[in-house]
Amino acid sequence: MCAIEAAKRGRKVLVLDHANKAGKKILMSGGGRCNFTNYDVTADNYISQNPHFCKSALSRFTQWDFIAMVEKHKIPYHERSHGELFCDDSAKDILNMLLSESEQLGVHIKLNTQIETIKKIAEKNFQIKTSKEKLNCESLVVACGGLSIPKMCASPLGYKIAEQFDLNIIPTSAGLVPFTLQPEDKERFSTLSGIAIDSLVSCNNQSFRENILFTHRGLSGPAILQISSYWKPGNAVFINLLPDVDLVEILNASREKQPQRQLNTELIKYLPKRLISVFIDNQLLSKTLQTLSQKEIEAVANTLQQWQIKPNGTEGYRTAEVTIGGIDCNEVSSKTMESKKVMGLYFIGEVLDVTGWLGGYNFQWAWSSGWCAGQYV
Ligand SMILES: Cc1cc2nc3c(=O)[nH]c(=O)nc-3n(C[C@H](O)[C@H](O)[C@H](O)COP(=O)(O)OP(=O)(O)OC[C@H]3O[C@@H](n4cnc5c(N)ncnc54)[C@H](O)[C@@H]3O)c2cc1C
Repeated sequence: MCAIEAAKRGRKVLVLDHANKAGKKILMSGGGRCNFTNYDVTADNYISQNPHFCKSALSRFTQWDFIAMVEKHKIPYHERSHGELFCDDSAKDILNMLLSESEQLGVHIKLNTQIETIKKIAEKNFQIKTSKEKLNCESLVVACGGLSIPKMCASPLGYKIAEQFDLNIIPTSAGLVPFTLQPEDKERFSTLSGIAIDSLVSCNNQSFRENILFTHRGLSGPAILQISSYWKPGNAVFINLLPDVDLVEILNASREKQPQRQLNTELIKYLPKRLISVFIDNQLLSKTLQTLSQKEIEAVANTLQQWQIKPNGTEGYRTAEVTIGGIDCNEVSSKTMESKKVMGLYFIGEVLDVTGWLGGYNFQWAWSSGWCAGQYV
């Protein structure tokens, strides 16, 4: 996006990438259909030590601007839940759109290129030594993403460049990532692998209402991925497996109407049997409603509606969709994305300390920040 915008201004642009293919993350995103943006984008959908930083770029190149580009290229797309926009056919459509605009504007893209050293040799003069040659440029844009999915060519180059120029880095961690469980929980929930439940998941004053998914490794699903970005090691996560009902009220009402009914029979109206038997003691499940004490009813509701679990950790960068933290936004102009200390050095996209929620927000940040830098480089 930055290359396209800079080339539109008549700048001579060269993109260097050590990958053998451009835009690998675009291709693998959104299950191959690229969730390229969202109808509803605000700064509240982003995590950063400086929550105001992203506002300017997001308001200057908006989701509507990107949608207009997608429509200009006649790419068919559709909305899924929560305003998420996906390609109808393939993520390739988004990559091809960017590549064809780049090509038309004369942007050069060099793949399979290792960046060995970077030097600032004078004002408006950076020297880059690659595995192939020495290059000089006036503006150097660092757009090399975060640490997520090293197999997809992620590397710490962006942070190393920031360190080299003495720029502050907010410590990084894996975000939008499944949780692994403590050994005893892993064993306890192993039989639930494959079950998805619409839940309300909360941690550190943030909540998400979406599916959670039990897997053979731990917990995943959109609500878990979202909350993982707010979770810190040692924190408990609170999960309401029945967010739409007041279970105490329901059980009390059923106790009046059908006193002979077993607790189990009542609960399987709301949750899978397999799950209930892991959460609630069998003896209690076989009790009739009339024999349940108020305390027992409250304990059942508590177990299912305020399930508290302390993850062992996350699956880490191997499977994380994003990297939390990164180049401190206070080091960079929110208007131009240029470093405040090093003239001519720009940072855009995920390498900055701006992390979006699941739902197309990370790409929108990449498009918006790239567009802004493209107006100034
Ligand atoms: C599996 C998966 C699915 C995702 N799905 C979505 C989604 O549907 N919607 C959404 O909004 N976000 C999604 N994301 C997040 C999104 O892909 C990223 O936030 C976004 O790609 C960041 O863009 P970027 O340009 O900053 O970095 P990247 O897209 O990561 O691009 C960085 C580029 O820099 C290159 N590079 C890295 N290190 C070096 C080096 N040392 N030398 C040379 N080149 C280097 C890489 O090869 C790469 O081409 C997903 C991420 C993953 C991992």
